[in-house]
Amino acid sequence: MEPVIFEERKAQIQRKGAKGAEPFSISCNKNSLAGAVSQRACVFCGSRVVLYPIADALHLVHGPIGCAVYNWDIRGAMSSGPELHRLSFSTDLREKDVIFGGEKKLYQALLELIDLHKPNAAFVYSTCIVGIIGDDLKAVCKKVEAEKGIPVIPVQSEGFKGNKREGYLAACQAMFTLVGTGDTSAISPLSVNILGDFNLAGEIWIIQDYLRRMGVEVVANITGDGRVEEVRRAHGAALNLVQCSGATMDLAKMMQQKYGIPFKKVSYFGIEDMSDALYEVAKFFEDKDPEIMTRTRELVREELRDLYPKLQLLRKDLVGKKAAIYVGGAFKAFSLVKSFRHLGIDVVMVGSQTGTQEDYQELAEITDEGTIVVDDTNPLELSAFIKEKDVDIFVGGVKERPIAYKLGVGFCDHNHERKEALEGFLGMYNFAKEVHATVTSPVWNFTPRRRKSPIASPDVPACAATGRVS
Ligand code: SF4
Repeated sequence: MEPVIFEERKAQIQRKGAKGAEPFSISCNKNSLAGAVSQRACVFCGSRVVLYPIADALHLVHGPIGCAVYNWDIRGAMSSGPELHRLSFSTDLREKDVIFGGEKKLYQALLELIDLHKPNAAFVYSTCIVGIIGDDLKAVCKKVEAEKGIPVIPVQSEGFKGNKREGYLAACQAMFTLVGTGDTSAISPLSVNILGDFNLAGEIWIIQDYLRRMGVEVVANITGDGRVEEVRRAHGAALNLVQCSGATMDLAKMMQQKYGIPFKKVSYFGIEDMSDALYEVAKFFEDKDPEIMTRTRELVREELRDLYPKLQLLRKDLVGKKAAIYVGGAFKAFSLVKSFRHLGIDVVMVGSQTGTQEDYQELAEITDEGTIVVDDTNPLELSAFIKEKDVDIFVGGVKERPIAYKLGVGFCDHNHERKEALEGFLGMYNFAKEVHATVTSPVWNFTPRRRKSPIASPDVPACAATGRVS
């Protein structure tokens, strides 16, 4: 395994409990090593994934068509109404535009698209080449905004100017220009904004339902199933719930500073974290509504009464299996480690693209001895860790899926593209079902890593008549 790890990357990989590794410390939160083929996305992609689910806004990528295609319809973010977000647009900059500038093209594209689609706002994303040729995005947006009477917001997300985290910041700065411009009258004193949930497979609707049952109003979804008007009045909420801390934490901090809105970091994945999130909200509003805690306890009890027996059934086949986790934000990794514990599965490798020192410290605390903790890794390292630990299931996103399948390992998509709701108590059951299906699939008996005979594994007998394996 050693040859696949670059010398410069060694400080970003730690084994919990390894000799000389105490106290736990890991190098992280820095630019990716050139040539290491990081799994991370660029700054532009970071901002695009955060803003994308705002469904009634126009999203225009100012750059070559390849940038837009790279993250076209990137999330399975569902909308309960308009779906303009799914029509990604690009100015399709060509060689001539690079030489003579692309501002005119951007101006024309904005006028045409706003007239055609009548959006409630427009986000204009800057890409690498725009940063190089120096198009004045702000000036063009300001001009169109004055002419068309809707917010036209530049997103300063030049791909090369840092890592994905800078993209999150650019997205938050863009959204913050909207916050505070809407009417906040008639908002309940028991109200929250949901930050950092992208309504993949309709997940935000599960969380909204829990909050509604508790008696809490949701002012703005930021950004899953998001609307421009909601973001504009988000400053009227009493509390910000921040999931996926990397993506929207900057916005929560800006809102705290300017509007005095406190925030709580939450996760809606897994039993403990989902329950904790609801109890945190109940605790926050207890002074205003003394009954809220009772309602919340009843809600959690009701959900668990249904969930536990179903989990126990699936767990029987999963005890002792091994899991590797590599996700974008570390908050998801915490919840996954706890969720796997409920299923009797040992987590032997865990990492994230954008974790901080505190995140990794927490991961080290909740994982077992020998677990590999890794920051901003790459396919070669991931393959080596999976083989070394003889993993049964790998949890990641679209870029990790082929690594798992090529190695003959079960896979669970926990990223933008998933079609299965994994949040909430219902999501925990969906997760357990998906893990069970992939880990126990007979197909892995035929992959080179596990195959015991060239025809079929003795564990999976072939049909005597046809020779086929069921
Ligand atoms: S912005 Fe830059 S790094 Fe990102 S997709 Fe476009 S060219 Fe690639």
